[in-house]
Amino acid sequence: MIGELRSRVGRQWRKIRYSGEKYFCPICESRLNSFKPFVGTYNLYGKPVDHFTRHAECPVCQSQIRHRFLITYLKSRPELLFGRKRKLLHLAPEDFLRRFWLKIPDLEVVFGDFRPERYSFKVEHVNLLKVNFPDASFDALVCNHVLEHIVEDEKAISEIYRILKPGAWALITLPIYGEKTYEKPGLDANGRIFEYGIHDHMRLNGLDVVQKFENAGFKVTTESFDSVPGNYFERSENTPHIQSDRYLFLLQK
Ligand SMILES: [Zn+2]
Repeated sequence: MIGELRSRVGRQWRKIRYSGEKYFCPICESRLNSFKPFVGTYNLYGKPVDHFTRHAECPVCQSQIRHRFLITYLKSRPELLFGRKRKLLHLAPEDFLRRFWLKIPDLEVVFGDFRPERYSFKVEHVNLLKVNFPDASFDALVCNHVLEHIVEDEKAISEIYRILKPGAWALITLPIYGEKTYEKPGLDANGRIFEYGIHDHMRLNGLDVVQKFENAGFKVTTESFDSVPGNYFERSENTPHIQSDRYLFLLQK
C-alpha cells in the first residue's frame, strides 16, 4: 500500500521533472523532453556490440521502446481492444502495462509467469511448455521478450495457440536480428553470453521466426515501427538496441 503510494508520487514527480513536448509515452501518457538512456555492451554473433541508446526508457513508467511501440500499435487498432468483453493473458507481465490495462473497459486480464513470486501483484504460475489453462481460454495474449529464453520455443508457441479461442489474437515481441535466426544448440551459460550476449537467451531470432508462428497455425502480421507513426522514441537514433526492437508480431488464430 505504502509502496504503491510512494511509486505513484515518484511517477508524478518524474512526470514534472521530464516534462516537454518532444516525446510521448502512450503507456503513462506523459509528454517528455527526453527518455532515459540504455547503457550496455553485449556480444552478438560472438563479437562485442555497443548497445548505447540515448533515448530508451520512459523516465515516468520505465517502459522500453518495444512496449511503447506495442501500445501505440494497439491504440491504432482499437478493434483489438475495444468494443466487446475480452479476457487477456499477459505473460511475464510488466507493471506499467498492468496499470495501462486497468484503463481499458471490458478487459479482464490474467497475469502469468514461470516465477510468480517475483511480483507484488497476483500472478498465476505458467509453464509455457505445459500451460495449466484449458484449450480456448483467452481472447487475447501479450508476451514481450519471453520466447528467446525458451529452448523449446515451438512447443511454447503451440501452447499459446492452444489456449487462445478461435478468432483471438496474440501480440508478441522478441529481439530480432536480421533475417535468419542464429542458434548454436547445447551452449552453456558462458557460451550463450559469448554468442548471444545474455546468459539465458537461447538464440538470436531473425524474422524467420514467423515460420514457427505459422507452423503452429497462426496467421501472422509482422509490423515494423517504421509504419507505426509517433514520437514514442527518437527516430533519428539508430542503434543495435533500437534495431532489435523494430518488429512486433500480431498472431491471429
Ligand atoms: Zn511512460
